Amino acid sequence: MNYNELAELLFPNTDMTPEYCETLYPERSLPAGARVTRLGPSPTGFVHLGNLYVAFTNERLARQSDGVFFLRIEDTDSKREVPGAAEELISALDYYGIRFDEGVTLSGESGGYGPYRQSRRGDIYQCLVKRLVSEGKAYPCFLAAEELDDIRASQEAAKLTPGVYGEWAAHRTLPLEDVRRRLGAGESYVIRLRARGDSETYFTIPDGIRGELSMPENTMDVVLLKKDGLPTYHFAHVADDHLMRTTHVIRGEEWIASLPIHIALFDALNWKPPVYCHTAVLMKQEGETKRKLSKRKDPEFSLAYYRAEGYHPSAVREYLMTIINSNFEEWRAENPNASPDAFTFTTGKMSRSGILFDNDKLNDVSKEVLLGIPAAELAAFLTEWAEQNGRPETLLLKSDMRYLERILDIGRHGANPRKDLSHGSQILSFIGYFYDEPVTPEDDLPENVPREDVPVLLGGYLKSYEHGDDQAAWFDRIRTLSEENGYAAKPKDFKKNPELYKGHVGDVSTVIRIALTGRRNSPDLWEIQQILGEDRTRARIAAHIS
Ligand code: GLU
Repeated sequence: MNYNELAELLFPNTDMTPEYCETLYPERSLPAGARVTRLGPSPTGFVHLGNLYVAFTNERLARQSDGVFFLRIEDTDSKREVPGAAEELISALDYYGIRFDEGVTLSGESGGYGPYRQSRRGDIYQCLVKRLVSEGKAYPCFLAAEELDDIRASQEAAKLTPGVYGEWAAHRTLPLEDVRRRLGAGESYVIRLRARGDSETYFTIPDGIRGELSMPENTMDVVLLKKDGLPTYHFAHVADDHLMRTTHVIRGEEWIASLPIHIALFDALNWKPPVYCHTAVLMKQEGETKRKLSKRKDPEFSLAYYRAEGYHPSAVREYLMTIINSNFEEWRAENPNASPDAFTFTTGKMSRSGILFDNDKLNDVSKEVLLGIPAAELAAFLTEWAEQNGRPETLLLKSDMRYLERILDIGRHGANPRKDLSHGSQILSFIGYFYDEPVTPEDDLPENVPREDVPVLLGGYLKSYEHGDDQAAWFDRIRTLSEENGYAAKPKDFKKNPELYKGHVGDVSTVIRIALTGRRNSPDLWEIQQILGEDRTRARIAAHIS
């Protein structure tokens, strides 16, 4: 067979050559050790936590090494493509501080290694495949869908690996005349790799996360160009990662199984493969078992969820670092105030098995992170989030920013700061009582306080209330009020002689607390009153007397 003739027959208009591509996209001149990484999302319109996880690892690897991080849109499957999905992804990642050095942007493309949308790289793929055909490493295959179905059925019946390989690769040896005739008759075809591997022979390949992998050689005549002339993922990413000079490919573990195909393609093109790093899947605990996070079942899998719930981007980023690198938390304990970007991330410390995503842990990390954000900044974040998400509280929050700042700042200073605030929707419900008039009680009064004592205690409190009291003077008044009404001024007195009292000062405080906040638990009551102001404080107490 004259493969050159076959190549000309299939690609009569392709003049570009692989050599020209090499000069068009030369090796990058970067400092030694610089990593070139990329994100290669398919624009399907669903941006999930896994995208952010992989984006962070790629971004860290490039940034830490003074390398390059670019965005390539893998849009060769027009059936799955959702208009505007690339833009949505860019904005979603931007929210978390993920910026690309090159690639598709909101306003066109930037960088010298484009086009960065695979759908616009047709001539590059064609010229590379033409070369493979001319070297006898690829061939046209006209097998129709029904024929492929039959092949699969017979393989399944014989319990064999499904696919076009070995004796089933019937069109490997089609004579040139046959190809010419079929082309003339307008038959559709794909271009397949002519696999040269042996499934009994294993090769080893280093994986940046998993160490050395041992895998069988590829025997599948996989599709390189589909019927529509567009490349498959296998071929496109190999071509692109070589010509875009990617040094590290970080992608999900679902691609490990097809790694032999990718290595065979690099071999066929005489190129050196990048370092592949296969990440583990994101899991969640459900009862005793762990399972993969699912688009259908888990709202928290979608990135939109975190924005809608009002998580601060730096909290999500900090949490992701804890699950990306096993030694991050240790580092954080030693460097409590450092930017997470100062941490040296390594692929070798990434999880190889399922990565457990834990919402409670996210909330804990978030509380810690929010503590480091000044109240004024937090107030601005909260109101902006409330506004963008159409929260009905927005106007009220914005009407007095100073009031909001003081609320958010309660108990955050000193040796043992409170860690109450985790994210927008939680904060709004946590601070709700500052805005509710009247306050709706959420909790019950202490059981040992007779109902008829409530107006008496609150009436006495109101009478003795001095808004200018400092905290100690204020509490002394509550002690006196307690004693006057049969409650111990100190809990320990009550413990010693419970038969002498109805309860103690803590019960009296709870009655006041419920009148002021509707809750049994709240930050410091004196501080709350100072923020509410005298009028509001008195009005709330008075409302519970009548
Ligand atoms: N387009 C592929 C995907 O969305 C990208 C895999 C890769 O990063 O190579 O899964």
